[in-house]
Order: sequence, then structure tokens, then C-alpha cells
Amino acid sequence: MTGHAPRNAPSLDAFWMPFTANRQFKAAPRLLVSAEGMHYRADDGRTVLDGTAGLWCVNAGHGRQGIAAAVERQLGTLDFAPTFQMGHPIAFEFAERLAAIAPGPDGGKLDRVFFTGSGSESVDTALKIALAYQRAIGQGTRTRLIGRERGYHGVGFGGISVGGILANRRVFPQLPGTDHLRHTHDPARNAFTKGQPAHGMELADDLERLVALHGAETIAACIVEPVAGSTGVLIPPTGYLERLREICTRHGILLIFDEVITGFGRLGAPFATDFFGVTPDLVTTAKGLTNGTIPMGAVFASRAVHDALMQGPDGIELFHGYTYSGHPVACAAGLATLDIYGQEGLLTRAADLSEDWAAAFHDLRGRKGVTDIRTLGLIAGIELASRPDAPGKRAYDVFVDCFARGLLIRVTGDIIALSPPLIVTRDQIGEMAETLGAAIDRAA
Ligand code: PMP
Repeated sequence: MTGHAPRNAPSLDAFWMPFTANRQFKAAPRLLVSAEGMHYRADDGRTVLDGTAGLWCVNAGHGRQGIAAAVERQLGTLDFAPTFQMGHPIAFEFAERLAAIAPGPDGGKLDRVFFTGSGSESVDTALKIALAYQRAIGQGTRTRLIGRERGYHGVGFGGISVGGILANRRVFPQLPGTDHLRHTHDPARNAFTKGQPAHGMELADDLERLVALHGAETIAACIVEPVAGSTGVLIPPTGYLERLREICTRHGILLIFDEVITGFGRLGAPFATDFFGVTPDLVTTAKGLTNGTIPMGAVFASRAVHDALMQGPDGIELFHGYTYSGHPVACAAGLATLDIYGQEGLLTRAADLSEDWAAAFHDLRGRKGVTDIRTLGLIAGIELASRPDAPGKRAYDVFVDCFARGLLIRVTGDIIALSPPLIVTRDQIGEMAETLGAAIDRAA
């Protein structure tokens, strides 16, 4: 009978859910059936405040009619066209619009854009561009890629190899020649910091250690998330990214910022690159690029990287791409998204709210079991003491409780992460902190 279940009560058997404890979920499912503005509606009719912008992606809020209309128009005009040895105008138009707001300072923007279908694809694309670039400039011995402990760079083999998640590294084989910086999380020195932590800049010198160990002439690129999201909101110490940039430059190593979550306004500037004033050579994005509506990613490259690859003999400069690179419908969604971001000032709105945001969540300090609170822009991480018998259980209980009471949060281990749509109101920020605080109390 499962194949004939009515639409409103589908069988849960066939869908093998990603990044989900399938058996646990299917025993007590949570289903979202519609969304508008700051809210989801659950299948039992309850309204749920979106504390996570979906999965860090619905930056302009849900149900944006401008995006829906643009997608519908595009589907009726040009539903698909290849971008291999062919083109279509909207991909060039979208890239041009992105170039105008690209990460980096005026005159030094990373304004060459390679389209992908997701964050994972953006990461693997950036790593391949870095390797191709080194080869193109006569540095073909540079094949090593450096990531960081507790980094998350998606699920491609490149991304898991430079990523720092042990569950990935234990189960799957790695790209040869990757290595990792230590992470910057240091609650002993930095707990309950608002904004960037004061201590830990010297951890960037880890890259010097790896240079000494492997030789600079073997290292192509170093990739970090400016703010690590998925592994628990790790905010870079003051001066850390600057130092990493300086070391990379000195040793001819390309610096890649993975801005899949920080891109498109999350910190109060269009990109973390702009927020921190540190310019890498490549920036990976996805998620907020289309407000989460149509899957799409983009890699921003500096002119220097791009132009080096355009110098060789005639032929394909970068032997890489996806069927859906520059998909016309995704480009339409992206252009409409940029219109909304521009009209509503959303790429900088987090800067206006970040003080109230920080105050609301730092107010939870002192609640039983809360060991750290970290905030930057419109991101918050609240760390709970793990139960020795069941690590992760305390935060998971908070997540389930919040959902039952109308708030969607995210948890990773015993860390709670919040990252609402950038249209969030001050009242809604207060509501999030209150619901969360009550759930933390109950879980204690
Ligand atoms: N990089 C970062 C920093 C991310 O946060 C994510 C997704 N959370 C990815 C890459 C992978 O993106 P996707 O799930 O779209 O492949």
C-alpha cells in the first residue's frame, strides 16, 4: 500500500534521508509543509519560527513572490540550455550582477564567477581551480591542500578531505596529500565572547608548521570557513585571518574562504571577506545565492587566478563543469534574489541587528548547562555541557522541545546554532531567545 498513500500522508519508507538518523526520525517525524516570511507551517498546522533560515540559506525569508515569478517566467522562456561550448544570456547577466557585488575591495574584487549546483560542488571546484592555477603558473609540484580541524566543506571527496569532521575521515578514503590546521575553538580562553574572540591569532602560525613539515613548494591552497558554521559556530580570533592571509601570500599558497554560509549578508556585510577586510584568492558560495530556492553555487575567483588560466594554448582552460552550471532557472532565481537583497538592504541588515542579537542570546548565560555563547552578525552558537552517558542528547532534546513549541533551531553535537532569515524582527529575536532559554531549562 505504501505506493498509494494519499499525498498528505506519504509513507516515509522510500526516502533515505541525508544527514539524518533515519530510524529515529521515522519513528517520530517532523514535517514542514509550507512557509511564508519568517515562518514554517508543520503538518499538524502549527506555525514554526525559522531560527535557521532553512539551512543557512533562506536569507530573504520564505515565499518571496519576486523569485517565484522570475522562476515561472524563466521556465516558460528557456527552461534549460547547456553552458558547455554554448551559452545563454541570463548566465552572463547573473555573473555580471554578482561581479558587481563580488567579495573583495573595489579594484580587487574576486569578480570572475564559476557556477556550480551546490556548496559541495563549489568547494571541489575551488580546490580544482587552485590546483590548475598552480600548474598554469609553473608550480605544478604544488598539489597539497590544507584544511582545518572542525572545518566543513561539503561532501565531495575534495571537501571531506580538507574538512575536519572525523566521521567523514574514518569511513571514506581521502585525497592524498591533505593536511589540517588546528581549529581555533578555545573555550578556556574565549568563552562567552561577543564578536571575535581576543585569543588565538597565533593559531594561524600552524600553517608555518605545515610549510616547514611539507615544504611550501608542495602546497597549492589552504581553505577555511571564515566562520565555521556546521561544526558549531567557531568565530575566528581577532587577527587570525589576517595572519593566515599573510602567511599564504609569503609562501605562494592560495587562500580559499568557504563562504557557503557567510556569503550574502549573514555577518552584516555582503561577504565575510568584506566583513573581516581580508581578501582570499577564491571564495565559495551557494545557499543564499538563490535564497535557497533553486540549488546553485558559485565560486568567485580573483582576476589573477582567472587570468593565469586564460593564458595557455587554445582549448578548454579548466577541464571542469556541471550540466547545471549556470542553469537558467537558477540564474533567474538568483537575479530576483539579488533584487530583493538590494531593495531591502538585506546584505547589510545584520549589522544593524547584531548588537540586539548578541544581547538576546548572551542573556542565556548562567542558565544551567550552558558552557559558552558565541555571536557574530546574525549567527549564534550556544554550547551545552554534554551528558557523559549520552553526548549530543541534551542539545537534541532542546531541538525537539523547541520544535514542539514553535521554533526551528539546529544542533550539532551539544552545540545549538541559530541563523535566522535576515528579515528577522527584534521581537522575533526576543521570541527565539525566550523559547530557547525555556527549552534549555527543561533539558537541564
Ligand atoms: N561549505 C560550507 C561552509 C557549508 O556550510 C556547507 C553546507 N552546510 C557546504 C560547504 C556544503 O554545501 P551543500 O550542502 O550545498 O553541498
